[in-house]
Amino acid sequence: SWSERLFSGFRKTSERIGSNLTGVATRLDDATLDDLEDALIISDLGPAAAARIRQKLSDKSFGLEITQQELKEAVAEEIAEILRPVAKPLEITAFPRPQVILVIGVNGSGKTTTIAKLAHLFTEDDYGVLLAAGDTFRAAAIGQLATWAERAGVDLVRGPEGGDPASIVFDAVKQATDTGIDALIVDTAGRLQNKKELMEELAKIRRVLGKLNEEAPHDVVLVLDATNGQNALSQIDVFKEVAGVTGLIMTKLDGTARGGVLVAAAEQYGLPIHAIGVGEKMEDLRPFDPDLVARVIA
Ligand code: GDP
Repeated sequence: SWSERLFSGFRKTSERIGSNLTGVATRLDDATLDDLEDALIISDLGPAAAARIRQKLSDKSFGLEITQQELKEAVAEEIAEILRPVAKPLEITAFPRPQVILVIGVNGSGKTTTIAKLAHLFTEDDYGVLLAAGDTFRAAAIGQLATWAERAGVDLVRGPEGGDPASIVFDAVKQATDTGIDALIVDTAGRLQNKKELMEELAKIRRVLGKLNEEAPHDVVLVLDATNGQNALSQIDVFKEVAGVTGLIMTKLDGTARGGVLVAAAEQYGLPIHAIGVGEKMEDLRPFDPDLVARVIA
């Protein structure tokens, strides 16, 4: 089942947090709470979430003797409380259609794969999906997206390499509107090395979209690679500035010990987390279930 897969996917994160917590004593005095806070910080949960969890445990149980298991459960509950408010699936609600979903993120973060996974998820729900190859900068990007589109059984609007992404997006919105598409998912360039150009490119895409539909883009989804740990968080700052961000998808949570960064992102940014990537296959995008994730990682 997928929850078993999720458990095995988060195994490394869970082992890391588990072993960090194991060093913490079980009488909840100040020294123990210091150790707990440190253990959470070195588990990639970030200083803000670590401080909050420390405070909550102190408020609830200061001075008490608890078991190791109770400590883990208490931490899991506090993590769940941080995650619950941000868990928000990406829903197709736009009227008029199509809902335009801009997908942004640095190259290598898993953007292309995530687009294919979203297309798969939406077509499974009987939504009509169209992709737009707005990353015209990388030679391989268009071809890769074409391969994924074929696998997912959806159409792709593409232009020449080096072409104008805004004009591809323009064509894609027309095609989506004419053919009654529900969700138009737009790939974009991830060249953070050239922030100014990227910013201008994304701004132009937004302008063209806005002319066709005031509400578009309806979603600006930032794809983050969990294996980057705290660096993934600094990408949120940059992309908020470059493009505006309405929600996050974190990828590669399988096989990394740095899954705690999901909690750090939730606490520090409060942006909706739509889904998580737990593998390379099309089916490996999971709705973000905060209680399950909290239980799995702590
Ligand atoms: P892009 O450059 O951002 O478009 O990234 P790609 O979609 O091409 O993905 C980069 C690499 O990460 C590929 O080898 C993908 O198979 C891999 N990848 C993407 N998402 C996941 C995930 O959730 N888990 C794992 N293990 N690998 C992933």
